[in-house]
Amino acid sequence: MSAERPEHRQFHDFLARHRTFLLTTHINPDGDGLGSEAALSLWLSAQGRRVRILNDSVVPPQFAFLARHTVFEVFDPGVAEQRLVEADALIVLDTSNRQRIGRLAPLLDRTTIPVAVVDHHVSHARGFGHVNVIEPEASATGEILFELFRQVPGTVTEEIAEALYIALMTDTGSFRYSNTDTHAHRMAAELLGYGLDPQRLWSQVHAQASAGRLRFFGEVLSALELDVDGRLVVLDARPEQFQRHGLVGADTDGLVDMPRSIVGVEAVVLFSEVEPGKVKVSLRSTGRVAIDTIASKLGGGGHVHAAGVLLRGTRAEARERVLPELKKRIEELPADARVAW
Ligand code: AMP
Ligand code: MN
Ligand code: MN
Repeated sequence: MSAERPEHRQFHDFLARHRTFLLTTHINPDGDGLGSEAALSLWLSAQGRRVRILNDSVVPPQFAFLARHTVFEVFDPGVAEQRLVEADALIVLDTSNRQRIGRLAPLLDRTTIPVAVVDHHVSHARGFGHVNVIEPEASATGEILFELFRQVPGTVTEEIAEALYIALMTDTGSFRYSNTDTHAHRMAAELLGYGLDPQRLWSQVHAQASAGRLRFFGEVLSALELDVDGRLVVLDARPEQFQRHGLVGADTDGLVDMPRSIVGVEAVVLFSEVEPGKVKVSLRSTGRVAIDTIASKLGGGGHVHAAGVLLRGTRAEARERVLPELKKRIEELPADARVAW
């Protein structure tokens, strides 16, 4: 084991001290949360540890293939109590915000279970674990895990590589977002060396949409609003639209990213009201405007260029809380660098 960072050493020591682990991630888990759980679970199991995964939310269908080798349990009060009692330690992946693990969070107040956090979000950077490995410069939580695994030579298998690749591919928007750097590409290249098929893995995640989902995207996109001289795109999705197309909140995944392709756009915001009175705000920047603090001031969080927050109230109220600040930030950008190319 060759850990250089003190947090990495602490993490390995944490693993060495315990035998039975419970893993969890944030609500509405994405490819990074689920891929990281699958990878760490396989890795720990191979080292003779007992591992369970328990999440607040179900695994979305496009990630069901990750459950070939690992079981993802969904929160139930009785099961959660039981899993916390059985486990020697809890490892929280892809969030360092305690509330974001959902219904498991209040149960933690009643236990003394040791907690480790592995995450790459900028908000809440101190973490709530006894051990915190939080690296905002990492493209994905899976990238941090890969580094940790490689410190124990010969422990990465094809199944682990696949789960880590899913984490990296999804969090970098298939290697397109601003967090895609040489490190991410080197990691991808190394993972492919385990025999992965990138085209098949991309299709497994991204070629799973229903026709209804595309029609819904079409409807929302055809009603897109431009503001601040075409530099801000505002999208709006109503409860009635989710119902009519038979969709759930997770089905908006990828929608907010599409208007990034419009020339001159600095930011995109989606106000998604899945159920009346609950508005999920998704914010994206094309690289110049920092939007994480807009989300964190309202109780959410995320990364500099991709962040979100869940707001109670109407869409009009949510717009009122988000848009003035977002517009101001875009207007304040230096004009000379307006055209990115
Ligand atoms: P999304 O818009 O859901 O794709 O989320 C973009 C980023 O913001 C992800 O890194 C999320 O972890 C983060 N994020 C989204 N919603 C919240 C929230 N309610 N609280 C904290 N972080 C969030
Ligand atoms: Mn995530
Ligand atoms: Mn992530």
